[in-house]
Amino acid sequence: MKKILTASAVTLCLLSACKDKKTMDNPFFSAWNTPYEIPDFGRIKPEHYMPAFEEGMRRQKAEIDSIVNNPEEPCFANTIEAYEYSGALLEQVSGVFFNLSECENSPEMEAIAEEVTPKLSAHADDIALDAALFRRVKTVYDSYFRADGTCDSAGLDAEQLRLLEETYKSFVRGGANVPASQQERFRQLNSQIASLTLRFAQNVLKATNDYRLVLDADQLDGLTSDQIAVAREVANADETTKDQYVVTLHMPSWEPFMMNSRRRDLREQAWTAYTSRCAGGRYDNTRIIDTLVNLRLERANILGYPTHADYIHADCIARTPDAVYRCLNQIWTPALQKAKAECAEYQKMLSADDPGAKLQPWDWRYYSERLRRQRYSLDDDEVRPYFSLDGVREGAFMVAHKLYGLTFRENQNLPSYNSEARSYEVLDSGRVIGVLYMDFFPRASKRSGAWMTEFRGQHVDRDGNNIIPVIQIVCNFTKPAGGKPSLLSFDESETLFHEFGHALHGLLSRCRYGSLAGTNVPRDFVELPSQIMENWCRNPQVMRDYAHHYQTGESIPDSLIAKIAAAQTYGQGFINTELLAASLLDMDYHTLSAPQRIDPLVFEKTALDRIGLIPEIVSRYKSPYFQHIFTTGYDAGYYSYTWTAILDADAFQAFQESGDLYNPALARKFRTILESGNTRDLMQLYRDFRGHDPDVKPLLRNRGLL
Ligand SMILES: [Zn+2]
Repeated sequence: MKKILTASAVTLCLLSACKDKKTMDNPFFSAWNTPYEIPDFGRIKPEHYMPAFEEGMRRQKAEIDSIVNNPEEPCFANTIEAYEYSGALLEQVSGVFFNLSECENSPEMEAIAEEVTPKLSAHADDIALDAALFRRVKTVYDSYFRADGTCDSAGLDAEQLRLLEETYKSFVRGGANVPASQQERFRQLNSQIASLTLRFAQNVLKATNDYRLVLDADQLDGLTSDQIAVAREVANADETTKDQYVVTLHMPSWEPFMMNSRRRDLREQAWTAYTSRCAGGRYDNTRIIDTLVNLRLERANILGYPTHADYIHADCIARTPDAVYRCLNQIWTPALQKAKAECAEYQKMLSADDPGAKLQPWDWRYYSERLRRQRYSLDDDEVRPYFSLDGVREGAFMVAHKLYGLTFRENQNLPSYNSEARSYEVLDSGRVIGVLYMDFFPRASKRSGAWMTEFRGQHVDRDGNNIIPVIQIVCNFTKPAGGKPSLLSFDESETLFHEFGHALHGLLSRCRYGSLAGTNVPRDFVELPSQIMENWCRNPQVMRDYAHHYQTGESIPDSLIAKIAAAQTYGQGFINTELLAASLLDMDYHTLSAPQRIDPLVFEKTALDRIGLIPEIVSRYKSPYFQHIFTTGYDAGYYSYTWTAILDADAFQAFQESGDLYNPALARKFRTILESGNTRDLMQLYRDFRGHDPDVKPLLRNRGLL
């Protein structure tokens, strides 16, 4: 709060606003008198958000105005740093609202989100395209970074230079440098792209919801009793299918059906329905793809990049499309080889069932699942007793303690947004460095999935105070039931370690500027801290330390560890091939360098034929429903999953090679990566840790592709 009072214009408004009783009651307008200034959850009510958002935007606007109208020459402090510190209230209310709308949702929260989202995006646009503000940013930038690429760092330390560079870059990438004659077109492109991506998503949703495979009792051959019960429930929700069974195109319904149904004809129907979504017809997305890809190219060209991928990668660790192709191609060949071997095995099984039949894409999951059960029957009920939620959580804490010396002190007296969430003070050498909420079980107000977020990120405020992070992990794990504690599947255990890894990235952050701190790193780096933790989760030695039977306390037997390990490399030919096919397809669309008419179905076939994809496998997502790249921000970025997987496997390999999974010297170096946020060159940080560039071999080995 203090920092906002330094701007006189803002102070006045704040004082006059205080006359309003309503405003005085709004917890966002006063300091939080809570431990560690944790958000005052108990006092925050839905009606407080909108006024706080409005006031937050107004204050930031005033702060920007005072930067722009500053009569002094632009300098780092009065422009770059002042801009960095602006919008504190807005950040505070956003940090609470958007996190709670994911895990404490309600119609009221949804209505607020709908009202505020367009306002926030207009507010962000106003800043991004504020010509006067950009002129000042550019003046400062040009005084340090010369046109010949050299840099005069006089007076600024490395983190300040990084902030200057990143701030300038974000304005340029947002279009601030676009010549006046093209500004109008640039804005048009942005808004057209935004509305097309929205329509794309709506079409996929509608096409997915539109299809139902209605089955009678004699068509359920092979389905599990759980599956049948769910199919029955879905059918009964609709009068027209009452007492029948319905399979939908949503993953939890479709995929198990493809894995278990013995009816080849029905599998073909379900597969065809799934893979032909939005490829023509009522919810056609093919025309949208054609337009979208061309508009993205045009926008990249206006920004000075030859392709959309060049534009995207310039802000990633990968840097160039070439580097991305190289990365993907390294895995493509061994993955395809493995997939062909898998294909031959399934063909043999099919031939035994149905002599003369040729394996088709709708047979793949079915035979893969059958063979998996034969070979690696991993009985869930055998695994779960060793992975009690408390045990796995303690295991994650143990790893963080051994690596970084952290301890986690539960304190349920900290303010909380829901009594189900467990609250921890995180200590390093006796000093609290952050607060962690762990919110594990599903409830109606929580969206599905698992994620980590920050109510407040670590940073140093304008007065030099280190502000500790307030981090949240949200999951949807199996609840305690039937007198048993929560017992996790192995997947869920990995998820816990994964999200905990993100949390460590936020907790260990030691940066000055919030926009560079913690998890604010490029998309193709952000999963390294999380994915590397999964390696400890599945390491036999570590597992023996944390996976104890919840009743007997006995350590997990080696035979079960071996089964878990074997199950992990099973089916990797298919998994990697369909993932890489999709990643390469994404790259092919976004490395087009000349506008052209695109028929996505033809384009996709050509692209996949070129890399030799076998007809029994299709891209994980076919173009017309490839939402990652046409709606959710993974355009020219679907490779990130593979890229970071290479990094995490290679990074963990360093610990293994050292013979000590908690090697102190390596842990210290990896901690530097976690502490540094985006304040330094991340690839250089990685090399400092590893001693060389990331090597693909550990990943290939882990996935059984070597
Ligand atoms: Zn993640």
